Amino acid sequence: MPDPLPNLSPGELSRYSRHILLDEVGLEGQRRLAAARVLVVGAGGLGSPAALYLAAAGVGTLGLADLDRVEEHNLQRQILHDTAAVGVPKVESAARRLAALNPHVRLRFHPEGITPANAVAVFGEYDVVVDGSDNFGTRYLTNDAAFFARRPLVHGSIFKFEGQVAVFDPAGGGPCYRCLFPEPPAPGTVPGCGEAGVLGALCGVIGSLQALEAVKCLLGIGQPLRGRLLVVDSLTQEYRTLDVPRDPQCPLCGAAPSIRGIDAARYDAACAPAAPETAAAPPGAPEEIEVEEASRLAAAAGGVLVLDVREPYEVQICQLAGSRHIPLRQIPARLGELPRDRHILVLCHVGERSRRVAEFLRAQGFPAVSNISGGIAAWADRVDPALRRY
Ligand SMILES: [Zn+2]
Repeated sequence: MPDPLPNLSPGELSRYSRHILLDEVGLEGQRRLAAARVLVVGAGGLGSPAALYLAAAGVGTLGLADLDRVEEHNLQRQILHDTAAVGVPKVESAARRLAALNPHVRLRFHPEGITPANAVAVFGEYDVVVDGSDNFGTRYLTNDAAFFARRPLVHGSIFKFEGQVAVFDPAGGGPCYRCLFPEPPAPGTVPGCGEAGVLGALCGVIGSLQALEAVKCLLGIGQPLRGRLLVVDSLTQEYRTLDVPRDPQCPLCGAAPSIRGIDAARYDAACAPAAPETAAAPPGAPEEIEVEEASRLAAAAGGVLVLDVREPYEVQICQLAGSRHIPLRQIPARLGELPRDRHILVLCHVGERSRRVAEFLRAQGFPAVSNISGGIAAWADRVDPALRRY
């Protein structure tokens, strides 16, 4: 038997009066929200609006799992956090904001994030899980763990100007994420986690829709997006709903599943960059070079050239002293400016665009070209913390 629903104080009745006025919510629905436990995975672009609306709605226990710290380039869309929170763990920054928004909500934080070791147990402590993760590894882990914990998962994702929302609830008869996409895309076939652009307000739309679906699940009202995928094109403002049937062949929730538990190795490589596939580099010029080694070569006399292929706006954010800047798209037309007798180290933001340029230069006959693995982001992490990150 479920515990009796909590009674609401006069202050709570006042706070939630616009909910209670709705026949479909009413006093009982609001008390049901007060008894509910919702976990938001990720305190980023989607998790920010989702957590804010769920806290404001009076969800009794709100959990937040995130292991990152707030960075300046998060603030364009992650509205849980503010400028003063840069450098602070996201769960800490979120705690301040959410507690200030609604002191009636019991907040729980999982600063270790969602991991293969904790996911099923943590999900089991909540009624609904909202997925605000931004990478395929966590997305698949969250899907699989929600299945094993038998909890409905409110999925949301965005790519450039498009967003998607669905409720995955195999225990309730619906499909799971793997019914749509059985396996993560091959490494390197999609832009890296830190590389794709995101329109901030679209995060607000999709994260708010996720909060809405979670509240509907908790109240049992309306028609949740169970078995349906909402696809939002923010450029045309077209909202399409696609039927997503459960796949009997699904490797997770199908009749003969191949995934029978959480195996950590399954979620590791999902956001790894593509392995280089060009012919071997000449002796002394490895195809990939770590930032520490690149830094040593760049500082030594003897003439390596660091070729920065990022966009001009990125160079304004941060750059390496002594590097030469030619944006990626201008490389083919400006090959004549590049020396063929020097070792060229190609640099971009996270090492993916630069890998393509390095392959291109080798194909053009440049004898010694290396890609700087991890790009200037890794350089800022491991060589020069004074570099501004983005
Ligand atoms: Zn499935």
